[in-house]
Amino acid sequence: MKSAKLGMNSKLVHGGHHPDGSGAVTVPIYQTSTFQFKNAAHGASLFAGEEGGYIYTRLGNPTVHALEEAVAELEGGVGAIATASGMGAVSTVYMTLLDEGSHMVGTASVYGPSRVFVEKHLSRFGVEATFVDTTNVDNIRNAMRPHTKLVYVESPSNPAMQVTDIAAAAQVAHEHGCLLAVDNTFASPYLQQPLALGADIVLHSVTKFINGHADVVGGILVARDKEILGRLHDVMINLGSNMDPHQAYLVLRGLRTLGIRVERAQQGAEKIARWLEAHPKVASVRYIGLSSHPQHDLASRQMSGFGAMLAFELKGGLDAGRTLMDSVRLATLAVSLGGVETLIEHPASMTHAGMSREDREAAGFSDGLVRYSVGIEDADDLIADLDQALAEV
Ligand SMILES: *Cc1c(COP(=O)(O)O)cnc(C)c1O
Repeated sequence: MKSAKLGMNSKLVHGGHHPDGSGAVTVPIYQTSTFQFKNAAHGASLFAGEEGGYIYTRLGNPTVHALEEAVAELEGGVGAIATASGMGAVSTVYMTLLDEGSHMVGTASVYGPSRVFVEKHLSRFGVEATFVDTTNVDNIRNAMRPHTKLVYVESPSNPAMQVTDIAAAAQVAHEHGCLLAVDNTFASPYLQQPLALGADIVLHSVTKFINGHADVVGGILVARDKEILGRLHDVMINLGSNMDPHQAYLVLRGLRTLGIRVERAQQGAEKIARWLEAHPKVASVRYIGLSSHPQHDLASRQMSGFGAMLAFELKGGLDAGRTLMDSVRLATLAVSLGGVETLIEHPASMTHAGMSREDREAAGFSDGLVRYSVGIEDADDLIADLDQALAEV
């Protein structure tokens, strides 16, 4: 059956699988570092090494390729490159597109290391960056310089749950002759396909929703055209940030259930967000599915659902955040997100403790902000857990 005609869940279940002679229903793990060339002794007509196919696992591997094909299809790209981690994907984009003396414009509230890598490391090679509030596309336009090579948007962004207009960002990038890359980790390809909105490259930390079981760290890049894909692949294989076949096997297994996991988790998220909005100790709730969210209408247009990530602001600030972290019993106190288990985290005392209060506020969140990644537990149990924990605050 032509897969272009299949729905999203059918693509999730079958993507990348081409049954071999054994009839295996799942993609086998090709746990090999290298692949044998056929020489004349094996009946090859070409000189050894001249035929196509797999050569060495850093350059390509059938299990990894199955995952790449599946995610490329979901995102509507020409191909994908799986990487050792989400940061492996981010660094591959930067190293491919940013030359000495070039400039990029990025979302101020991006995943921390996506900003640190440019400001701390690529700056040593003369790369400059301007991080702005991309919820207002005029800020991107005003930050563009003649040597800007990349616009880098994360939407929804972390942890402030800000949404950027991807089609408008693509237009600004293209008017200036540069490319748009979108970190689509929070939405997952199930809810948002940035290439269809005009982006050139999409990337994910598959550690999060795509794998969804908190047992793998990995990343993936998807490109709109073959030329960009080839350039990214050339850099990735030289950086050595390739995904391992066993990792790819686990991620493929997680990917098969992405649809039902996201559907269920976002149902829970909506219920919890509404409950939190009515709680006296909560100052505000940031869930893009609530009409109180400033980019709710934009999110309704560019996403097919609102996802399972939410954040809320406690009236009691830093101390209230710490107390809440000490009091939850069902939600797990941990960084990361997008798994079957609900995770809770307090950026001001945990992930973003190293940032100054001013920088945190500039990135769109204050001391009482709590991030909550809704899993697939019963929403009523999660609400009961938050209820008893908030009573301690
Ligand atoms: C986790 C994350 C990353 C980095 O991914 P790793 O797999 O941890 O390297 C990048 N972007 C976003 C939005 C993330 O949440």
